[in-house]
Amino acid sequence: MNRRRFLQQSSALALGAAAGIASPVAFAAPPANPARKRVLRAAHLTDIHVRPDQPDLQHPAAGMAEAIRHAQAQAERPDLLLFGGDCIGDALYTPKDEVLAQWDVWNRVFSTEVKTPAKLCLGNHDIYGWAHKDRAAAERDPAYGKTLAVERLGMKDLYYSFDQSGWHFVVLDSMQPDYATDHHYIARLDEAQFAWLAHDLAATAPATPICVLSHIPIFSAAALFDGPRERGADWVVPGAWMHIDARRIKDLFRQHPNVKVCLSGHLHMEDDVTYLGVRYLCNGAVCGGWWKGKHQEFGPTYALVDFYDDGSVENTFVRYRGE
Ligand SMILES: [Zn+2]
Repeated sequence: MNRRRFLQQSSALALGAAAGIASPVAFAAPPANPARKRVLRAAHLTDIHVRPDQPDLQHPAAGMAEAIRHAQAQAERPDLLLFGGDCIGDALYTPKDEVLAQWDVWNRVFSTEVKTPAKLCLGNHDIYGWAHKDRAAAERDPAYGKTLAVERLGMKDLYYSFDQSGWHFVVLDSMQPDYATDHHYIARLDEAQFAWLAHDLAATAPATPICVLSHIPIFSAAALFDGPRERGADWVVPGAWMHIDARRIKDLFRQHPNVKVCLSGHLHMEDDVTYLGVRYLCNGAVCGGWWKGKHQEFGPTYALVDFYDDGSVENTFVRYRGE
């Protein structure tokens, strides 16, 4: 009897002995389907937060270039780059001239380095002026809000969908203004976007697997560890950390079992949570801890996401700076 066979038989015996008790096997991840075929490889690069060099930062522009080059130099090269938002350092709080300088760095590195089809998603820090002290003045500027970011990112729409290699991709805009909170935004879909999403999912063939890309996680475990979230006897997670309308979105996904995976960033942390058949992957940050090393346990990273024809994905974190 070889070792594997022995282990199989012993676990069968153990199961028999534990009859009536839920078997640990029932909780194991389903084995990968050996007949599945990879149809697409994407690199998910989120939270780059690029800005001009400063003495206390580890060369953001060079780092952004390094991450893109590293992804494109993979032996099995990605067919698609997914940029997950928070492209620049910050525009929510930052004066206009500095914001423009940040976008100049983004546009220069992006146009020099990106040699692969790319899709982009908006992040909260890409939005101009929502948290400015003199918001009334910022509001008079035509760049206010999402306008400047959309222009610099060359996005036609704030949210959209596309098909590639047998998968359907949905890109969401997570941020709505909420000036009453400390963060000046909240993560949710407005009514028009939610209606659009419901229609888009319904219009997708049930056999076509769906991937949803958002900047802010729809659902996340890491959000519980992002800052001191314990308040006395309660866990308290801000609606700016994770979609406050997660329950509504989860209920919508329940009507469409072909929604398989949701990719996000925002937290600069990594997790992998499967809930009701949907895999929620929070894929770290290209800048790690805002170009000052790690954020908690997580160094500068991007993720390689392999999409298979059976609706499964493999997600691999790549520490492109070796940290
Ligand atoms: Zn963010």
